[in-house]
This record gives sequence, structure tokens and C-alpha cells, in this order.
Amino acid sequence: MASTGSVEAEKEPFDIDTVLRRIRETVRSFADAAMFALAAQGHETLFEQLVACILSIRTRDEVSLPTSLTLLRRASTPEAMSRLKPEEIEALIRPVTFPEPKARQIHAIAVRTVEEFHGKLPCDAQVLQSFKGVGPKCAHLALGIACGHEAISVDIHVHRVTNRWGYVQARTPEQTLAALEARLPRAYWVELNRLLVPFGKHVCTGTRPKCSTCPVLSMCRQIGVQHPH
Ligand code: SF4
Repeated sequence: MASTGSVEAEKEPFDIDTVLRRIRETVRSFADAAMFALAAQGHETLFEQLVACILSIRTRDEVSLPTSLTLLRRASTPEAMSRLKPEEIEALIRPVTFPEPKARQIHAIAVRTVEEFHGKLPCDAQVLQSFKGVGPKCAHLALGIACGHEAISVDIHVHRVTNRWGYVQARTPEQTLAALEARLPRAYWVELNRLLVPFGKHVCTGTRPKCSTCPVLSMCRQIGVQHPH
């Protein structure tokens, strides 16, 4: 582990405002995370965001973003989506992983939204997570973007980066979520995912993170980092 006493002595106090400001500058040139990019292109309803998140599960943004656009151009509302057959949805989303179960899940969400919620998904995490295939990550991210809910979405990048900083000490994404909810200022709850997904993909990568050129090296405790670049 790189967080030895001597390394600690060289570090500045960790200041989340400074860290996120520097990362905001750094990720400006990287592609936006898929769901934020979709919202920027006008697909910002809760239904559209939830569909996009389901499509992004275990699929790279480079694949899930164009696939989401293909599907949402064909059917962007629950009513329009419910009129498609699951097989038609599957054909449209073929490039993502698990197209068959994802098509069935999206169709089921559309049908239930029409039947139970008059065609409009409520901004309610419990309702969203009652749908098959929707976990806390997708529910929180969709609610944050579409409903302005202050919710932290912890995916593998947010989990890895915040633990390397030493900002939280947690073994699982669920524990990281609880720790961040206790510590992170609310103003950053939605933005954190938007910043740390591209930062985790390009700078604080899973193996050989680019610590030597990282904008927050002076504050990051580099917990668990064995082979920095
Ligand atoms: S790249 Fe290195 S210095 Fe930067 S946040 Fe990740 S572990 Fe810390």
C-alpha cells in the first residue's frame, strides 16, 4: 500500500471542494457519462434515463449511448415503448449485453407505467427499484438527472476512486454509498458520479492509475495503489 507514514507526511489535507474542482477541469475534455450525454441531447425524462441506465449495465458507454439513442428515437415514452413487442426492442438494442432480458425488462416497465402510473413514472426510488433489473445505482442516477433528486450513485468507479482517496473506507459499493451519504456535502451528490466515471476510466483506472499526472495527487492517500503509472 502506498499510504505509508512518509507518504502521508507529504500529503496536503484532503479538501473535497478542491479535489472535485480539479477533477471537473480534468474531465471536461472526456466524453460525458452516457446518461448525462443523453440528457444533454433532450432525453431527460425519468423513463428515458431509466431505460438508458438499464442498457448501460455491463456495457461500455461507447456502445450503450448510440444504442439508447436508436431505441429512444423509435419509442421515447412508456406508451410508445409498450406498443413495441419485446422482440422488436431486442432487435433495436442488440449491441448491448443481455439484449433479451433487458428488452423484456424495458417492455415490462413501459407496460406497468402505462397501466399503474398513467404513463408517467413517479420520482420515487422504491417504485423504480420494484422493477426487475433496476438496482439502487440506476434508480439514484435516473432520479438525480431526471427529477433533481439529491442522490449519490455509486458504481465501480465511484467506489474505487473515493476509497483510494481515503475519503471513505468501505469494502463494497453499498458500504461506500452509506459512507458518502454521511460525509459528502449534498451539493455534490448528483455530480459525483458524473465526475468520477470519466475520471475513473481515464485517470484513476482500475490497474496502473495515472497518479504521476493526476490533478489530485497532492491530496489523495492512494490507498491500495500498488503500481501507479
Ligand atoms: S490516480 Fe492516483 S493520485 Fe489520482 S486519485 Fe487515483 S489513486 Fe489518487
